[in-house]
Amino acid sequence: MDGNLSPNDLSHIVEADKAHVWHHLIQHKQFESKDPNVIIEGKGMRVWNQAGKEHLDAVSGGVWTVNVGYGREEIAKAVYDQLIKLNYFAGAAGSVPGALFAEKLISKMPGMSRVYYCNSGSEANEKAFKMVRQIAHKRYGGKKNKILFRDRDYHGTTIGCLSAGGQDERNAQYGPFAPGFVRVPHCLEYRAADQSAPKQHYGEWAADQIEQVILREGPDTVGALCLEPVTAGGGVITPPEGYWPRVQEICRKYDILLHIDEVVCGLGRTGTWFGYQHYGVQPDMVTMAKGVASGYAAIACLTTTEAVFDMFKDNADDPMNYFRDISTFGGCTAGPAAAMENMRIIEDEGLLENTNAMGDYMLGKLAEMQDKHTVIGDVRGKGLFLGAELVADRDTREPMAEKRVQAVVADCMGQGVIIGATNRSVPGYNNTLCFSPALIATKDDIDHILSAVDGALTRVFG
Ligand code: PLP
Repeated sequence: MDGNLSPNDLSHIVEADKAHVWHHLIQHKQFESKDPNVIIEGKGMRVWNQAGKEHLDAVSGGVWTVNVGYGREEIAKAVYDQLIKLNYFAGAAGSVPGALFAEKLISKMPGMSRVYYCNSGSEANEKAFKMVRQIAHKRYGGKKNKILFRDRDYHGTTIGCLSAGGQDERNAQYGPFAPGFVRVPHCLEYRAADQSAPKQHYGEWAADQIEQVILREGPDTVGALCLEPVTAGGGVITPPEGYWPRVQEICRKYDILLHIDEVVCGLGRTGTWFGYQHYGVQPDMVTMAKGVASGYAAIACLTTTEAVFDMFKDNADDPMNYFRDISTFGGCTAGPAAAMENMRIIEDEGLLENTNAMGDYMLGKLAEMQDKHTVIGDVRGKGLFLGAELVADRDTREPMAEKRVQAVVADCMGQGVIIGATNRSVPGYNNTLCFSPALIATKDDIDHILSAVDGALTRVFG
């Protein structure tokens, strides 16, 4: 814990926070009766708050971000060295870390070729949507402009991204939304709403539901399909077998660009560099943000194939024929400098291998916990990106009430272990416990997390 801050400093910080900070994702009324949690310091997988209390962080900074853990001096040094050399120049110019990180990133993404820098997952997705729209105008007289998104997926917080948002509670009260975004059904077998869903070949069947939407809309109006490889906040939904190859087949059949949102899965979270790489698909566009620099700098990337890039390069005499877009802080060099070091750490420390091993271990242990705790209806996930869905009744699969799910999260917090839960407020979305420890997690860390969850489930449900 930071010895440089006196108790007076700490109480001043808490008061300043309460008086002036508008926290993300929270109802502020609660701070009338309790103080906000101010995180002062982090090391490895542990963080300390203003009271000096140690927490084991099983959610990598709250939202699947700090993949290589806290306190990485080598990343801080790489950023420092870069900033004193050159901190920024606007996006049309290149930079040393920008060029070298793009080369390194693309070396892990066969079939992809170009990197477009920006600052957040939402921004990267907006840019992908803009590219799809521009391609529609350039190639298809403006017609092939619809973007399909999936129920339960989330692509960001801007109005454009919410228009492609499959989580209703995030959208409520923010409409009207942008036109031309069309929802397709989710692929979570455990929650298959359609009673005619087959037991065998469910994955292919779920993908075929996307084709039905394309046929209904008219294939000549659909420009892109945007999907998370494994859905994050919408319920930690791992795709069923057979799903992704069929999705790819459908996109190729109708000449639809496949945009994969790797904002959560990207850079190792699922045990491969990118989530889609588990499923043998070749996307046209990939967006990424959180794990790119593990939160040491704000950086997001949109990567594309050379074929997509080429569409903006032909007919150079046309003054409108380039991607007319900029991101002011896409010209910051701290992002790619941090990202380069982040990737080096993942490689040198064998963190993909560790993620696979620890992910399998944790998923197995969660499945074992189902024998003891009947409230665990389903466990799922990939690598260190895991979820346990809580139900009030295992037979009917009635979702557990949000209050009780939050009581489990709060109990773990009381034990000094930070876990998450899927998004609040709308029944059906808010009943999955989420785990996304840093990729450096050891067996002891996983056991520590699971023991806290075991205790919490026993206390909350008896
Ligand atoms: N895409 C996915 C899958 C996400 O989970 C998120 C954020 O949680 C975003 C996009 C938006 O990213 P950002 O918050 O950086 O704008």
